[in-house]
Amino acid sequence: MATASIDTRLNEKAADFVTHKHRMLIGGKFVNAASGKTFSVYDPATGEVIANVPEAEAVDVNAAVHAARKAFDEGAWPRMTASQRGRLLWKLADLLEANLEEFAQLESIDNGKPVAVARAADVPLAVDLFRYMAGWTTKITGSTIPISMPTEYLSYTLREPVGVVGQIIPWNFPLLMAAWKLGPALATGCTVVLKLAEQTPLTGLRLAELINEAGFPEGVVNVLTGFGEGAGAPLAAHDLVDKVAFTGSTEVGKLILKAAAGNLKKVTLELGGKSPSIVFPDADLKRAISGTASAIFFNQGQCCCAGSRLFIHEKVFDEVLGGVSAIAGKIRVGSGLDPQTQMGPLVSDEQFRRVTGYIESGLKEGAKAAAGGKRAGDRGYFVQPTVLVGTTPEMQVVREEIFGPVVCAQRFSDEDLDKIARQANDTIYGLAASVWTSNLSVAHKMAWRIKSGTVWINCHNVFDAALPFGGFKQSGWGREMGAEVLNNYTEVKAVTTAL
Ligand code: NAP
Ligand code: MG
Repeated sequence: MATASIDTRLNEKAADFVTHKHRMLIGGKFVNAASGKTFSVYDPATGEVIANVPEAEAVDVNAAVHAARKAFDEGAWPRMTASQRGRLLWKLADLLEANLEEFAQLESIDNGKPVAVARAADVPLAVDLFRYMAGWTTKITGSTIPISMPTEYLSYTLREPVGVVGQIIPWNFPLLMAAWKLGPALATGCTVVLKLAEQTPLTGLRLAELINEAGFPEGVVNVLTGFGEGAGAPLAAHDLVDKVAFTGSTEVGKLILKAAAGNLKKVTLELGGKSPSIVFPDADLKRAISGTASAIFFNQGQCCCAGSRLFIHEKVFDEVLGGVSAIAGKIRVGSGLDPQTQMGPLVSDEQFRRVTGYIESGLKEGAKAAAGGKRAGDRGYFVQPTVLVGTTPEMQVVREEIFGPVVCAQRFSDEDLDKIARQANDTIYGLAASVWTSNLSVAHKMAWRIKSGTVWINCHNVFDAALPFGGFKQSGWGREMGAEVLNNYTEVKAVTTAL
């Protein structure tokens, strides 16, 4: 166990939380791992240890699953009215909002992201999601269905919670991913075992305190810290878990699927992407340049829907490339807790090595850096915002998800929308895309041709609790948010009565 050091820029509440002894939430109580093992949490701006958290293993996962099972099958939760569940979710949102600054600072020191971004996006979007889902609790209904002999039979459907849900989340938006997962599960009446990402456990652990404070019955939400293999895998495989919901890499998504096969639990997956931003010559170029730059550089490029393939029409290629590269060159890279910072470090040493490895591979294969291309600074996990040109469709940097601030700019010359869409769709992924044009007809014709769960027109990275989000192809199964996600947390039961 390493000794933690503490950033003096944290406010008192955030500093208090980082330095207190961290425990996991199982069955309503804060506990250590059964083995007593812990692991270190790092500040990605310095690479220094800031905290130690319990290392859950199969035995802890089992205890959490049993607590969730008991809470689902017995006790207060299944007897609660939908309106009471809604009030609990609303209370949780209020508590989170009341502690917004503390959460923003914890997210920044843990994940590296600029505190201003956490303050303006991560925390308020999580608050909003809980409120949106609080509203749904009382509106989950079945339907009456006129079957072929309507005077002889009465048929209707019920929507019931799927049961105990195992949820496994990544490190790019730690609090927001927890909210996306917990909100619909709790709104529909499920119980949860949530495994946080090893790199970023702090806001999830603080949220666990607020879950208790809000008054959720014990065992309804259990929160574990641990590694993918040690804690995630036994959760995905557990026979008493009815559904697993995962966000992370496509590679691990496939492992989740195999682990879930034992008891055929339901599976939803929100996986990687290699999303195209497509700039037509008639676009408002000022807007397209700043929008496509932000599409890739927001959150250090660690977004599953990052606009990492930038297609620019040849008529405006130089202007757009120049504009995006100029923005890349001016972004202030630094510690997330510095109020001037526009881009923080990558989340971990592993991610830093992955991203710089991809940049090197692109350059070695013949691409050129129109901006960036190197690490920034000499400590912490900082990478320069990077624009690669001269890439070809076969290159690894064009085909694989880099998950860092690296965009591959490519030109297109066609007017044929089918051909342009074929290029945009030439990927195993199908999470998101953006189309930049002032021609409404082109915009919507492209939207229909692109194979992805989200298409943004003249914008990118616009999220709302009411909008479904998820992937076509290898970007996933099912949807997060909106009314759509509720289908992923409920079973439909058809009831028929002979009259
Ligand atoms: P990852 O390995 O897919 O991790 C996501 C979550 O799954 C984490 O909680 C992880 O635990 C857990 N996990 C790992 N192996 C598991 C297993 N065998 N069974 C069950 N759970 C398991 O992602 P990563 O390693 O953090 O990042 C690798 C790459 O994934 C990134 O470079 C990026 O391309 C992609 N990624 C995509 C998203 C997205 O939003 N779509 C988010 C993050 C990463 P640990 O915390 O211990 O790893
Ligand atoms: Mg991993």
